[in-house]
Amino acid sequence: MRVGVLALQGDVSEHRAALADLGVDAAPVRSVAELAAVDAIVLPGGESTAIAHLLVTSGLLGPLEARLRAGMPALGTCAGLVLLASSIADGRDGQPALGLLDVTVVRNGYGRQIASFESSTELAGGVRVPTVFIRAPRITEAGDDVEVLATIDVGDGVHPVLVRQGPVLGASFHPELTADRTVHALFLDVASASHAALSN
Ligand code: GLN
Repeated sequence: MRVGVLALQGDVSEHRAALADLGVDAAPVRSVAELAAVDAIVLPGGESTAIAHLLVTSGLLGPLEARLRAGMPALGTCAGLVLLASSIADGRDGQPALGLLDVTVVRNGYGRQIASFESSTELAGGVRVPTVFIRAPRITEAGDDVEVLATIDVGDGVHPVLVRQGPVLGASFHPELTADRTVHALFLDVASASHAALSN
């Protein structure tokens, strides 16, 4: 299975380094040809409106959407989660919501005072994962097909921060900015299982 990282804007090198820690040499994806060469993709954190704009100008938006709809495994972190959501409560006019995750997100939804903060969350099985939130999207609604893998309580309610729908994972936080590799390892597990199923 060949893994790529969408490399138009954002923390591409951090994701590639995280995957390298797990023995995966992830290819940067900047063009339709580079997209065609990968079986699974990471959509990094950064600025979702900038990434969306570059997806349009690079001609990647349609082909990426088609691959994702055909079942390509994906991990979106922060801005990447915004791109994968079905609804962006405060998106810019025309900002695409690819709709691979049936969630509503509010961009920068954790407020100004706590716009960037560190915390941790617990996955099933009691694994604690450190979380870094930087102007993070808040997931305010999740559909029935969305599995909530982790939540955070910042004092005004419990919100999902790691979700999965089929072969697609989304995180409000940045697992690529800590040394913990739990989320990337989970993505590789999900991706290789669904890649094996697709190739059979
Ligand atoms: N607020 C940014 C956006 O909407 C995401 C921030 C991030 O990826 N750290 O794209």
